[in-house]
Amino acid sequence: MNHSVHGIHHVTCIAGDPQENLDFYVGVLGLRLVKKSVNQDAPDTYHLFFADAVGNPGTDLTFFPWAQMEPARRGVGLANEISFAIPVGALDFWRERFDAQQVKYDAEEIRFGEKTVTFRDPHGLPLALVESNDARDFVAWDASPVPTEFQLRGMHAVRLWERALAPTAKLLTEHLGMTYIGEDNGWHRYGADGGGSGKWVDAQELPSERRGAWGTGGVHHVAWRVRDDAEQFGVRAQVESMGLSPTPQIDRFWFRSVYFKEPGGVLFELATDGPGFDRDEDMSHLGEQLILPPWLEPHRAQIEAMLPPLELPRVKA
Ligand code: ZN
Repeated sequence: MNHSVHGIHHVTCIAGDPQENLDFYVGVLGLRLVKKSVNQDAPDTYHLFFADAVGNPGTDLTFFPWAQMEPARRGVGLANEISFAIPVGALDFWRERFDAQQVKYDAEEIRFGEKTVTFRDPHGLPLALVESNDARDFVAWDASPVPTEFQLRGMHAVRLWERALAPTAKLLTEHLGMTYIGEDNGWHRYGADGGGSGKWVDAQELPSERRGAWGTGGVHHVAWRVRDDAEQFGVRAQVESMGLSPTPQIDRFWFRSVYFKEPGGVLFELATDGPGFDRDEDMSHLGEQLILPPWLEPHRAQIEAMLPPLELPRVKA
């Protein structure tokens, strides 16, 4: 094995109402809307990208808001939680903020030695904040309602539920270049080469659990970083050598993607670090306009007519 992934590139989830989604991730969690676009495979639906100030890989949580979809069914074969890193000592700020914003959260727990608080977004997506001072690429967003010193620093880990752990473990360690870190309270942790945001994937084996299903409040897929096309091609070949069926490369305009289902059924993506979200917008105005990739631009009028109105939330301190 010559090629490795380097942590989470982005995680894509399914939301309900797009305005409620935007109000929560920008207005409450303080992330920046770095791209307002459409689902390239279903352009009557938004695709909203929330990240740090510049859209660093590993900070980017994206949503397809499908208000008419059924709620997700938690179960095996899905990613079932996403955690964000916050600076050590920032949990008290966040509990006060959640109290003020009427966001329910759970009692603090320790995971792999780190203080963690779990909560859900307005559509039921399980999230967590983890106190961690690990080094990562992060640019604070000055216009965030959350003060710089408490902002979410990027993703920390994703949690997978698997009916059988061994085939997934083999993929992660032998074909994606991750390292087995250890076990904590039934969760097995794997670390991606290179560190940074989203370097952990935690998996739990639940042999008698029912199969999960996509829906609102669920994770659609987890994308892993590859530096460039050559590395993506190399990792793709390693995935194929395990008997899995990766797609050909698909141009997502801001990055290039290959998709495949891991052995337990979770949809994974390999996404290139570039070109990046400032390819078609000035960095100071990210997310303000509806951006379409060039091949959908000729259909802008029809697409805009199908999309519900969406406004940036008024920033609340
Ligand atoms: Zn993706």
